[in-house]
Amino acid sequence: MSSSRRVAIITGAAEGIGRGIALRLAKDGLDLGLFDLPRSQQKLEQLAEEIRKEFGVRVVNVYGDVSKEEDVKRLVDTVVQELGSLWAMIANAGISVNRVLHETSAEDLDKVINVNFKGTFFSYKYAAIQLIKQGKGGRIVGASSIAGKKGMAGQTVYSGTKFAIRGMTQSAAIDYGKYGITVNSYAPGVIDTPLMGYLDEYHTSKSGQPKGSWTKSVGLRW
Ligand code: NAD
Repeated sequence: MSSSRRVAIITGAAEGIGRGIALRLAKDGLDLGLFDLPRSQQKLEQLAEEIRKEFGVRVVNVYGDVSKEEDVKRLVDTVVQELGSLWAMIANAGISVNRVLHETSAEDLDKVINVNFKGTFFSYKYAAIQLIKQGKGGRIVGASSIAGKKGMAGQTVYSGTKFAIRGMTQSAAIDYGKYGITVNSYAPGVIDTPLMGYLDEYHTSKSGQPKGSWTKSVGLRW
């Protein structure tokens, strides 16, 4: 069923920055398609309930993995079918492994590239197909990072994927401008989310420093 409200999809919406974006866009009056891994179902259902009650907008939850092309296609198809159209894709889902380069396994390399780069690519791709088909412009937004503008200790692969997202975003923006579709990415510094908690745990267990000291140190450095 369609409504006059614009529709935004947010990937990685169950926690952290994605959750914050969902709450803000709901406050702005957009209907939402929220996406996260099946393991986050409880959190995403609670968030959808909170949003419906507080802001009165429509919310559709879809579960899957951004690194799987068929899941992202199903996400866009389901949201368009249930909410009528698409206006914005916020490709927020991302992960990190915390390793210096020579300690990074091929498996971890694939994992981070698959979720961060390929996941963002699939999200952009199926949003672009839908937005071009609708012919009314739209917004595509991805999650880069301060580590996508500047290298960072222990973040070789993560940083590489975030630089790659920036390049892909800039190129896609040039290609899609003629359709009235803008493509941008955000590059947060240190935001206190579960992701930062995992990074801090890794670095402080390696260095023997107190918990929280790594987050504080990078926060101060930037
Ligand atoms: P987070 O770990 O707190 O939340 C990420 C969400 O994405 C979780 O709900 C998780 O379940 C989901 N997710 C993970 N893998 C997924 C997959 N394969 N498919 C679908 N969903 C998946 O992370 P965050 O700190 O909120 O970060 C959000 C984005 O912002 C990420 O891309 C991250 O790299 C980027 N970022 C974060 C910071 C920071 O300081 N927190 C800084 C710069 C960039």
